[in-house]
Amino acid sequence: MFIGTNLRQKIMIVKGIANFFQTIYRLYSLKCRIFRARDMKNTIAADLKKDHKEQFASLLLQWNEKKNKRQMPWKGEKDPYKIWLSEIILQQTRVEQGLNYYHRFIEKFPTIQQLAKAKDPIVFKLWEGLGYYTRCRNLIATARYIAIDLDGKFPATYNEIKALKGVGPYTAAAISSFAFNLPHAVVDGNVFRVLSRVFGIDKPIDSTDGKKYFIHLAEELLDKNQAGKYNQAIMDFGAVVCKPATPNCTDCVFRKICLAFKENKINTLPVKEKKVAIKKRWFYYLVIEHDEKIAIQQRTGKDIWNQLYEFPMIETRENENIKNILKEAKEKGLLPNGKYEVGTLSVPIKQQLTHQLINGLFIKIKVNKKSKATNGQLWINRDQLENFAFPKLINQYLNAGNDN
Ligand code: SF4
Repeated sequence: MFIGTNLRQKIMIVKGIANFFQTIYRLYSLKCRIFRARDMKNTIAADLKKDHKEQFASLLLQWNEKKNKRQMPWKGEKDPYKIWLSEIILQQTRVEQGLNYYHRFIEKFPTIQQLAKAKDPIVFKLWEGLGYYTRCRNLIATARYIAIDLDGKFPATYNEIKALKGVGPYTAAAISSFAFNLPHAVVDGNVFRVLSRVFGIDKPIDSTDGKKYFIHLAEELLDKNQAGKYNQAIMDFGAVVCKPATPNCTDCVFRKICLAFKENKINTLPVKEKKVAIKKRWFYYLVIEHDEKIAIQQRTGKDIWNQLYEFPMIETRENENIKNILKEAKEKGLLPNGKYEVGTLSVPIKQQLTHQLINGLFIKIKVNKKSKATNGQLWINRDQLENFAFPKLINQYLNAGNDN
């Protein structure tokens, strides 16, 4: 191609070829963009039929008026403190379990000022069993912030509520709509499920695009004049009718318009794209006893269960033999230098967290003399154990009568 051409001509030819490929690439990108836009338009047109959108809120509120029998102490509540408390507790647990915690908290701390004044260990003890202790710490910090910095006045706008520690968009929407009827839609697991099924949306609910899409749709569907009632209704509907595994489609107000029902997609919606990797951890607890005393220590650092109490512990990545555990415990100063007697090893007690599976094993050890209070160890009487907040699996061990 270049025979008989001078340098200038050669450069022109190369430039011409480059331009040609650049044009082809631009045309290809444009075509992709057009198809993507058309796809999106088709999807929206298909899953968001205008009349279905218009009917959604009225069908939901109709169901709420006539059939919703779900009773909860915070329903219809207008006190933002109580709503906030119930929402923070419900971030952690199912409603049935959360009820007891809610009643105990309200009984002990009827106002936010009383919660703010409480000592940390008292609040932790009340929270015990709910897990995710960072949320408990946030609860204490927020109570103190409102009681002291805001003179006890709970914030009354969505943005101010969302700025509180431990409060995300969902909780802010719930508090602002229930307490102040502000027009903000709640979007939680129940809402994702109901909307993805009724409108047949197969966008992954754990993707950024998917989340944006559902949030936008939820805001659009919200009955802005009855935001509190609407939000409570959609959450109740997801919890009692459009349940994850066994939705009650035969008696459902959306039966005629629900695309998942029509197209037999109930079991495939909503869609999630990521599988959560579960990390396995082994916690070997040393139940060290001397006469009537037992050694415990407080967890510190950024790991799970920070500030809760536990028995001195050695963590491993897999099942380990007792000899190695005791060797490491000695090296770390968890065992006294004197004589000790090793008793039984418990069966593993498992606790599943969102991204972790904890296997707790307990080794009974009797010592002739108490070790010095190194490593933050405390020697307490057995009957004092109930005064300290422990992770759930330790309580399981103690409740099974293993502390004597
Ligand atoms: S018809 Fe079934 S899947 Fe559809 S909204 Fe009702 S309960 Fe959910």
